[in-house]
Amino acid sequence: MKKNIAVIRGDGIGPQIINEAIKVLKKIAEVFNHEFEYSFACVGGEAIDKFGEPLPQSELKKCLEADSVLLGAVGGNKWNDVPPDKRPEKALLKLRQAMGVYSNNRPAKIWRQLSDSSPLKKEIVDKGIDFIIVRELTGGIYFGEHSTKEQNGQRIATDILTYSEKEIERIGRIAFETAQKRGGKLCSVEKSNVLDSSRLWKKVMHELSKEYCDVELSDMLVDNCAMQIVKDPSQFDVIVTENMFGDILSDEASMITGSIGMIPSSSLGSTKRGLYEPIHGSAPDIAGQNKANPIGTILSAAMMLKYSFNMEKEAEAIEKAVEAVLDENYRTADIFIKENEELKLVSCSEMGSLIANRI
Ligand code: NAD
Repeated sequence: MKKNIAVIRGDGIGPQIINEAIKVLKKIAEVFNHEFEYSFACVGGEAIDKFGEPLPQSELKKCLEADSVLLGAVGGNKWNDVPPDKRPEKALLKLRQAMGVYSNNRPAKIWRQLSDSSPLKKEIVDKGIDFIIVRELTGGIYFGEHSTKEQNGQRIATDILTYSEKEIERIGRIAFETAQKRGGKLCSVEKSNVLDSSRLWKKVMHELSKEYCDVELSDMLVDNCAMQIVKDPSQFDVIVTENMFGDILSDEASMITGSIGMIPSSSLGSTKRGLYEPIHGSAPDIAGQNKANPIGTILSAAMMLKYSFNMEKEAEAIEKAVEAVLDENYRTADIFIKENEELKLVSCSEMGSLIANRI
């Protein structure tokens, strides 16, 4: 299969971790007989230096014309003083908007080999943590009307939370389809005991479930879900929730897995074209030192194969290669424990090569 991938290397550790993801994708193309073409888009701080703006039209065009976009990370101290609408991170908001992605999907997976880095008790971790949160990204309270006024001598602030059934249905479809590609279980999270928007959310999810008979749908209130994620995360396969609840729950879920360098993400809309990136930033403190963990980016590439290109076997091959390298005790600095003499410290580029060689 032939695919065009727009690649944003970005700033800080971005170029290094992207190099390693491309190394792995090249190996996948070779082994599974695919052709991946890469068009490199200059976005973020690098684009400010070169073009005077973080997302030039020419670079956005490359992203919109590609089959999917793979991103390292953007930003850094060098651009701290540029005006707010010119900041590197602003490019990502504009890119997501232009790509029409309304769903952010973040896996929470604990790798057996790294279970010591989870803050949860061993008996909870040993039951296995492997679920994904599908968060609505462009609706709800963050995009509602915001106002502050003075009334009777005091300030009153209001934020409006609105969801239309169309917005709920389209995120629901992504969640049901994600569950079909995983363990077939979907938990819809809301606050239907209090909020009208949540009652509509729950209704639409149940109406939709009639079209996805192979997925088992359950409901959970958001406060209970926050507790269950730390009490028994093994019960979850796919969680779908609205923007603000998803913002909070996905950060909680990434903490229980231990290391920020290991976690990939995808953002999807109504087409197969997605935006794939690790959840961390550009880590200026370790940029240029060949120290960064490239696994979050490599696993983002695996998600791209699975969810945008329907290459499930290929995605699985990457996940198995990561598993094998961790089993062989190779660790980048962020997941290395000095006291454990069995572990072998490797650089960012060594980690990428080790993974590519096991595909
Ligand atoms: P960060 O995620 O870049 O770094 C936080 C800490 O985690 C640092 O100590 C860093 O060294 C470490 N870390 C992050 N990724 C790692 C990896 N792959 N391997 C090993 N260690 C890793 O967050 P920050 O320091 O708050 O932000 C730095 C810059 O990144 C800022 O300019 C911020 O705006 C930007 N940022 C960009 C994105 C993005 O591009 N999507 C996301 C978040 C932050």
